[in-house]
Amino acid sequence: MGRSIKKIGVLTSGGDSPGMNAALRAVVRTCSHYRIECYGIYRGYQGLIEGDYVLLGPRTVNNIINKGGTILKSARSEEFKTKEGREKAYKALKEAKIDALILIGGDGTFTGGMYFNKEFGFPCIGIPGTIDNDIFGTDFTIGYDTALNTVVEAVDKIRDTASSHNRLFFVEVMGRDAGHIALNAGIGAGAEEILIPEEDLGLDRMLESLKRSKRSGKSSSIVIVAEGDKTGKNVFELADYVEENLPEYDVRVSVLGHMQRGGSPTCFDRVLASRLGMKAVEVALDGKTNLMVGLINNEVKTTDLEKAIKENTKINKELLKVSEVMSL
Ligand code: ATP
Repeated sequence: MGRSIKKIGVLTSGGDSPGMNAALRAVVRTCSHYRIECYGIYRGYQGLIEGDYVLLGPRTVNNIINKGGTILKSARSEEFKTKEGREKAYKALKEAKIDALILIGGDGTFTGGMYFNKEFGFPCIGIPGTIDNDIFGTDFTIGYDTALNTVVEAVDKIRDTASSHNRLFFVEVMGRDAGHIALNAGIGAGAEEILIPEEDLGLDRMLESLKRSKRSGKSSSIVIVAEGDKTGKNVFELADYVEENLPEYDVRVSVLGHMQRGGSPTCFDRVLASRLGMKAVEVALDGKTNLMVGLINNEVKTTDLEKAIKENTKINKELLKVSEVMSL
């Protein structure tokens, strides 16, 4: 293992996700294992620019593996999107004598890291921390499993009230560009229809399916709608559309919102975060850069940051069929 890296900086950036703390803990403790100093950088790229760093040791990350959010805080930094902002960040890092960066975040975070590396040759390693599961090079991003469980739990509760009143609920879940949460949580919660950004299943199909549900004697119906679903209608417009076309339905809307980002991470996310956090440090110590660590077929692998951002994570078509058949 190369020993030119003596100090590693770690930050959390973009939307927070459950398991970011577990990943941070893993990075800090792996640094300690290899006798490397680890600096936590507050508020993502904004703290990086401002030199808002703190030395972390194994005991400073006690009891955070179970905590949602991120103790380092996250932020969206417009300044880092400018060359001047990134120059300031580079100066601050040099002053603190930090040799490599570990970036826990989503595609925006990795894009920033890539620019930073191109301009200053600064080693950057990414850990995918986002609930959206929209990063190529890992079967799962940290926080996705927890978000799925949060959505399923919420929809189960909505189902209780929906069946008591024979109602149809439209439930909006996160996913502007990716339908992974909607599709998987929808199947898990037994949704009658799932609308996602990747596929336009058509409004007629939804109406047909709801009519069929009614005829077959269902006491409630749930339609899961990803924020960026392809019908072009938002969840309220969809509800109006169904009320106009199927007046026999008593329709309600529930927008789950930010609760999907919060909560204590599942065991799966904690283990994933621990594995990826350890590997990220080892990859940095090997002198590598511009890579993301991820889990592929239950093995920890690395992928070029650029590929991780640019290649699409495709929807599994088999799941669309499962959803259709299960909703009969
Ligand atoms: P999530 O998708 O889960 O919200 P993310 O990492 O994609 O996470 P963003 O807000 O898109 O979240 O990005 C986080 C930060 O990364 C931005 O606030 C900005 O500082 C930096 N960043 C994003 N895009 C760029 C870019 N094109 N150039 C430089 N920096 C960028």
